[in-house]
Amino acid sequence: MSEILFDRIALIGIGLIGSSIARDIKKLGLARQVVISTRSAETLKRAEELELGTAYTTSAAEAVEDADLVIVSVPVGASEAVARQIAPHLKAGAIVTDVGSTKASVIAQMAPHMPENVHFIPGHPLAGTEKSGPDAGFSGLFKGRWCIFTPLPDTDRAALDRLSAFWKALGSMIDEMDPQHHDKVLAIVSHLPHIIAYNIVGTADDLETVTESEVIKYSASGFRDFTRLAASDPTMWRDVCLHNKDAILEMLARFSEDLAYLQRAIRWGEGDKLFELFSRTRTIRRSIVQAGQDVDVPDFGRHALDK
Ligand code: NAP
Repeated sequence: MSEILFDRIALIGIGLIGSSIARDIKKLGLARQVVISTRSAETLKRAEELELGTAYTTSAAEAVEDADLVIVSVPVGASEAVARQIAPHLKAGAIVTDVGSTKASVIAQMAPHMPENVHFIPGHPLAGTEKSGPDAGFSGLFKGRWCIFTPLPDTDRAALDRLSAFWKALGSMIDEMDPQHHDKVLAIVSHLPHIIAYNIVGTADDLETVTESEVIKYSASGFRDFTRLAASDPTMWRDVCLHNKDAILEMLARFSEDLAYLQRAIRWGEGDKLFELFSRTRTIRRSIVQAGQDVDVPDFGRHALDK
């Protein structure tokens, strides 16, 4: 058990991320009360069956009453609606944070609704899987992972320290970034890979000369790894694409240029260019393993990491 960091925490949204946070709070004893709120009665019932909190409601407004920490874990496109619902009911001095994968858009949606007497600190834990819903969460998801805060210019440092202490208790490493910079970094390390995966799996599905059963039957590891990413939640990824549009389009333009270079090298049999690129990219993989962000075993180390 760790020490109690907040008397009452409200979790708005209890899918993969919200329920993983709930499991850690419970396991580590980080709060006296954990109020869980989600829009559907069905998901709420499941959260209750899993005993993820101490109180349950479909009303986000009711959930935040008297809460010292409010964590919003809903698809980024729903941020404004949630902010509108909770704003009039927030306790003075409360910390309100989120876990959304895009930051500039979430700030634009939520900040205007936040009362002056609460601390709104946008955040993004860089941890997840392709699964969704309360059953998909697990304790330890955030261990050894980065949690990036994109504080506003007037963010209170003491409140930021309290929130950092919470994420550190979950095992996260903390960083701070400007929201626009966060969105560019995430566009290349997370958003583009998912878009490429959705595209390649879609292309394979559309092929007329290779049947779908052959794609599945002979699925080699390269394609298999893409299908994992392409199985990610459609609502979440639709929202990420729509809410990080500029950075994603910028990275896609760069990607298309580089792909054309590769295409040309293949067409003209320029093996040295291919070899040079493939050698350069191999060292990136080694650096990621060295940085402790993956392990060097097949299956991209997912099972080993999840333990
Ligand atoms: P999830 O498992 O699909 O859960 C989504 C939660 O949000 C559920 O409680 C759902 O409620 C609720 N919700 C869905 N649409 C809503 C709406 N329009 N209005 C209000 N509530 C709504 O999603 P998740 O993977 O936990 O993702 C939550 C957030 O974390 C997203 O912003 C995502 O960008 C971010 N994130 C995800 C990952 C990842 O790998 N998945 C990683 C880092 C950050 P009901 O079930 O009751 O409908």
